Amino acid sequence: MNHGLPLSTDRPGEPHLPYLIDTEPDPPEPDLPLSSSGLGRSLLFLLLITTTTPRMSTVKPVLISGGGLASLLLAQSLRLSKIPFQIFERDASFSFRAQGYRLRLSPEGLDAIESVLGPEHFQRFWDKCGKTGGSGVSVINAVTAELISQTNPEALVSRGGKVVGIARGDMRKIFAEGCEDHIEWSKHVAGYELTDDGVRAVFADGTKSIEGSLLVGGEGISSKVAKQVSGGKIKVYDTGARGIHGQAPTRSFRLLGEGVFRLTDPTHPNGTISIITNVRSGDMDDPDIEFGWTMIGPPGAIRAPNDNYSIVGKGAAAIAQDLTKNWHPSFKPLFVDMNEAEAAFWKITCSTPSGVPEWPNEPRVTVIGDAAHSMTPAGGIGANTAVRDSALLGRLLREAGGYGPGVTAEYEKGMREYASAAVHSSYSSAVNAFGIKIEEGSSATI
Ligand SMILES: Cc1cc2nc3c(=O)[nH]c(=O)nc-3n(C[C@H](O)[C@H](O)[C@H](O)COP(=O)(O)OP(=O)(O)OC[C@H]3O[C@@H](n4cnc5c(N)ncnc54)[C@H](O)[C@@H]3O)c2cc1C
Repeated sequence: MNHGLPLSTDRPGEPHLPYLIDTEPDPPEPDLPLSSSGLGRSLLFLLLITTTTPRMSTVKPVLISGGGLASLLLAQSLRLSKIPFQIFERDASFSFRAQGYRLRLSPEGLDAIESVLGPEHFQRFWDKCGKTGGSGVSVINAVTAELISQTNPEALVSRGGKVVGIARGDMRKIFAEGCEDHIEWSKHVAGYELTDDGVRAVFADGTKSIEGSLLVGGEGISSKVAKQVSGGKIKVYDTGARGIHGQAPTRSFRLLGEGVFRLTDPTHPNGTISIITNVRSGDMDDPDIEFGWTMIGPPGAIRAPNDNYSIVGKGAAAIAQDLTKNWHPSFKPLFVDMNEAEAAFWKITCSTPSGVPEWPNEPRVTVIGDAAHSMTPAGGIGANTAVRDSALLGRLLREAGGYGPGVTAEYEKGMREYASAAVHSSYSSAVNAFGIKIEEGSSATI
């Protein structure tokens, strides 16, 4: 209950947040014999002061750095648990940069998401997911259009015998429902500082956030919070491999039919270049939908001018078009018709392959998602692992009624187990698939 008093933590320029809650119910009115004597009046006055002055405590919010998938699902969990939170996102809005790629969701990822969202919210999420049937994964020579292999790997199927996927942008928006007012945009988190009884995020412009009970670093592979809390132990290796993701109208994919396709071109002098795409027949005639593809090559095969991998849009699209210029006419429309604005480069990174390292736990700061464990695209498990973090940390915070001294240690113990296995599996597959190799401790990091 906010009694209209100024918030003790309010500072000029900081947003006014609804953090005040009563820790105790209002006490019953005192049952006193009313007396007109001085002593009686003084006693009554004293009792009124001690019993009717609102006893409030400021519940500090959980601060969340980055507004990506892991952060927003954690925020949703906190919202449902009525635990205050505040998100700081570097971008100016949800649509600040291309959000174009689609994510395949694993059974574990879907279970984690379902465990956080209520039934109706999960239904909306599920309805937005694409479900791909067809005949498993077809590997096709991109130049000759010959079918190389066709497999039906169980591992790809998530629910109802279908491969389930969703655009990252849609996933973010659905996770953000009801949390929008707690996102501060254009806030570049550069680190944090601990206070006597909490923590503040420190921004790149030198300003600081309100005081929080806990800071959760969810700002992806370049997380400064991860570096600081782990004392540099969390490392992200640059594998040297690069990718481009793009999208095109559904009609451009018509000749492929339904299913998951890997088009692979062994003719490039610097290594085999492949794209992976999912084609869903149900969406084929919807002019409002575009299908995506992800192009990957071994180190040196996909290069940006001046090694500038921040190129997005036309520049990235032109490179993809050039790399596929010899491809079979059946596949050309995927590149010729592409929505150039959505094309973007992708640096393929991976955390320490042997697993998420140990660091001395800092009860008030932890990390989730790619900030804790970056993965190669092999296996498509980065986001699926990230949402497991959100579900686990969200549950532990709910059970503790908000921040508690043992919460982050317990979360990190659980996360290390499944995330280490995921990083290891993703790295091992990528060694063969993309010809990468990481020497722990000596390979280049980002
Ligand atoms: C092309 C491509 C295809 C992929 N396909 C799959 C797939 O099929 N399945 C799968 O499971 N995974 C897939 N992944 C991996 C997946 O996208 C990531 O694992 C997932 O997005 C991680 O979520 P996150 O919330 O940890 O980080 P992100 O989604 O990267 O979000 C981080 C957020 O933090 C913000 N941020 C960054 N720095 C700062 C800062 N300093 N201060 C404040 N905010 C900051 C960013 O703007 C962003 O909004 C794919 C990735 C790519 C690139």
